[in-house]
Amino acid sequence: MSRLAGQVAASLAGGDGLEAAELAIRAGMMALGRGLLEPLLAADGGYRGPRAPCGAGHQAPFVSYRGKCVDTAVGPVAVRRAWYHCPACGHGFAPRDAELGVAGQSVSPGLAKMSDRAAAAVPFAPAARLVGELAGITLTGRRLGRRAEADGAASAEMIGARAAAISSGRMAAFIPARELPGMLYICIDGTGCPVIAAETEGRDRKDDSAKVHTREVKMVVVFTQTTTGADGCPVRDPASSSYAATFAPAAEFGTLMAAEARRRGAAHVRQLVILGDGAAWIWNLATRHFPEATQIVDLYHARQHLHELAGLLEFMLGDARDSWLHTRLDELDAGDIAAICAAARAFPLAGSKADDLATALGYFEHNAHRMRYRHFRALGMFVGSGVVEAGCKSIVRQRLKLAGMKWSIAGATGILTLRCLDASDRWDEICTQPGSNTPAA
Ligand SMILES: [Zn+2]
Repeated sequence: MSRLAGQVAASLAGGDGLEAAELAIRAGMMALGRGLLEPLLAADGGYRGPRAPCGAGHQAPFVSYRGKCVDTAVGPVAVRRAWYHCPACGHGFAPRDAELGVAGQSVSPGLAKMSDRAAAAVPFAPAARLVGELAGITLTGRRLGRRAEADGAASAEMIGARAAAISSGRMAAFIPARELPGMLYICIDGTGCPVIAAETEGRDRKDDSAKVHTREVKMVVVFTQTTTGADGCPVRDPASSSYAATFAPAAEFGTLMAAEARRRGAAHVRQLVILGDGAAWIWNLATRHFPEATQIVDLYHARQHLHELAGLLEFMLGDARDSWLHTRLDELDAGDIAAICAAARAFPLAGSKADDLATALGYFEHNAHRMRYRHFRALGMFVGSGVVEAGCKSIVRQRLKLAGMKWSIAGATGILTLRCLDASDRWDEICTQPGSNTPAA
């Protein structure tokens, strides 16, 4: 310590400035930390007897002591620990690694908590540069990414297991601690994520001309609302949004979505609202899990469909297109779907144009009861899931859909889960300890 003080004093006197001094002190403190941590870790060599359970039902014999370098928040430290090898499984392991949270990993849980946050925010290479600059730790983007994907995947597994336990009644979802807000909203949406070719093999693509390989991420955001603003519009409770996302099929997503909503008090609120676009799978899940909820088609999606309808009829409407569309948008706001359909059907179409019109109007007719916007507004409800657009999709778009990105499902799931937990202000629930992610029953 005094040697460090001497060095820094000399450096300051030599005119190197405060920056050099503070960085030298940080480097010195980290070296001091490693000097403390290494002997503390060495105090337990991880010997757990002549045999240790391999995790697959066998007893693996002790082999020898082996060294490993672990990157920690104070820099790389050397660990020597007992190594066991299971002949039946043909794999070796150190029980001590699992206890320390570094089984199959060389980044410590404490450092991972920092590097995972960087990896959730930006691509792995710049994330590694951030960690280097901010924490003074050198990691390659590849190692940082590997750890983040593993931690995110472990968290996703834990969240999925919890959701299944809640759904089967083995786990209580929610204990009301204080007065609940009157309204709880569940917004559901799907968006494409670019994946490596292997992840789309054997799957029918909707559009053969699309060369981009994507898989659908299904997302839910749950938020509450207590008040309306001076203009009578509903106001989302600040910091009340929580997110969940998965590549899993609709049924599995439904379990996840329902567990998240119940964790937020869906079974206890006065009014439950489910917002989504017109996709059938959304309403199937809504009806299955929360039949009592009010279903609303996101107004912005409905408006988009009206624009498409006007485009379809443009060859008939000509210059009247804009005013025609304007009137239909007003009818949509009023929830008058019958008027929209009647106005569109006034045109005598035949052949494929007639089929296209039937499809376009089917969207409105099928969802008419979910488009009673005047009625919903009178009840003080949100009718547009701008929250989904701004929150849910940004979780995917701003990190997983950047130029040139292609993901494995496992890797994308990991990063997506980290981003959902971050956006939900639940960062502390991230699993940085592989192997300790079994949910309490
Ligand atoms: Zn074994």
